[in-house]
Amino acid sequence: MVMGRDTWVYAEQRGGRLARVGLELLSKGSEISGEIGGRLAAVLVGSGVEPLASELISHGADTVYVIDDPRLRHYHNQAYAAAIADLVAEHRPEVFLLGATAIGEDLAPCIAAKVGTGLTAHCIDLRVEERDGVAMLHQTVPGWGGGKRVDIVCPEQRPQMATVKPGVFVVPQAKKGTAGRVVKVTPRLSERLFRARTVEISDEAEGEMPIEEAEVVVAAGWGVNSLGGMDLVHELAAVLEGAVAGTRPLLDKGWITSDCMIGQSGKVIGPNLFISLGASGAMHFSTGFERAKFVLAVDQNPQAPIFQAADVGIVGDLREVLPPLIHELRKLRAN
Ligand SMILES: Cc1cc2nc3c(=O)[nH]c(=O)nc-3n(C[C@H](O)[C@H](O)[C@H](O)COP(=O)(O)OP(=O)(O)OC[C@H]3O[C@@H](n4cnc5c(N)ncnc54)[C@H](O)[C@@H]3O)c2cc1C
Repeated sequence: MVMGRDTWVYAEQRGGRLARVGLELLSKGSEISGEIGGRLAAVLVGSGVEPLASELISHGADTVYVIDDPRLRHYHNQAYAAAIADLVAEHRPEVFLLGATAIGEDLAPCIAAKVGTGLTAHCIDLRVEERDGVAMLHQTVPGWGGGKRVDIVCPEQRPQMATVKPGVFVVPQAKKGTAGRVVKVTPRLSERLFRARTVEISDEAEGEMPIEEAEVVVAAGWGVNSLGGMDLVHELAAVLEGAVAGTRPLLDKGWITSDCMIGQSGKVIGPNLFISLGASGAMHFSTGFERAKFVLAVDQNPQAPIFQAADVGIVGDLREVLPPLIHELRKLRAN
């Protein structure tokens, strides 16, 4: 079978709105397709979603494959995976990128299994390097144990598939008037695929400000356990009008919700100010705030890796550092 050279991006949509991560991947995808010499395509799946194709084209897609069927109105693992896998088998793209969202993380392994290729989950970077005359996608993930970056390659099977966390790449500037091709695809979907049906999707009630939108984020690590609770963390965030986030152990303890966890398996954010309180700085965590403009870290261990990621570090016990810090900030705010 003839292999294509194209780079594909899954353009996730919910309720007729494109997820930002698809546009972010078009930016990286355009770089990758430039290096491997193919074209950049987006794959859009849903019902009545064709009008979204122009947004994908203005963000860099040369081609948009639109898989449209009323039965695909809501995300459906079996049906989406079958329809996309058929398209992949037909065109054999070189690279296929999906966002590491709840949907992308569910969909990507199903497609990879169907087309018989590998998949690297939760990438924090992607780059093309030539190996034995073949342009190979290096898919970077934080290494097990968290202290290393590891590159994963998929030398034999195609496409080279990866999921990437939202926020890792930036959305490219939209170019109005860009020409692109829209290819309508009629999926072959047997009723057997629809044994489970999505009846309704309801949005969660709006809570606090999402951490990816906050200009100031105060992130709590396991060291906050010494405070006996999150009160001081919330107080600091309130003084700075920021949002509260945290590390994996705090999620496991139930002191933050999953949408507030930072890192490789959590969110990737780039606030103006990021404050880390009692987090050691494992790479699984620190890859989540690499884009922060300014990082302040507090930890009692002067050797903690978090200080390598910080612009300013305070070595000290949170129980001693936080109360005067909050007090001084309050005074500053009041003046
Ligand atoms: C595949 C994989 C994915 C992962 N993904 C994520 C992820 O997305 N996000 C994430 O956060 N983790 C993730 N992890 C876990 C990660 O490797 C670390 O274990 C975790 O980030 C550590 O959290 P922590 O810094 O809060 O805790 P610790 O590493 O235990 O650090 C606690 C820190 O608190 C300090 N401390 C203790 N008491 C005080 C005090 N009184 N005052 C000041 N400092 C104090 C200590 O000196 C220490 O530095 C992942 C792991 C794996 C294997």
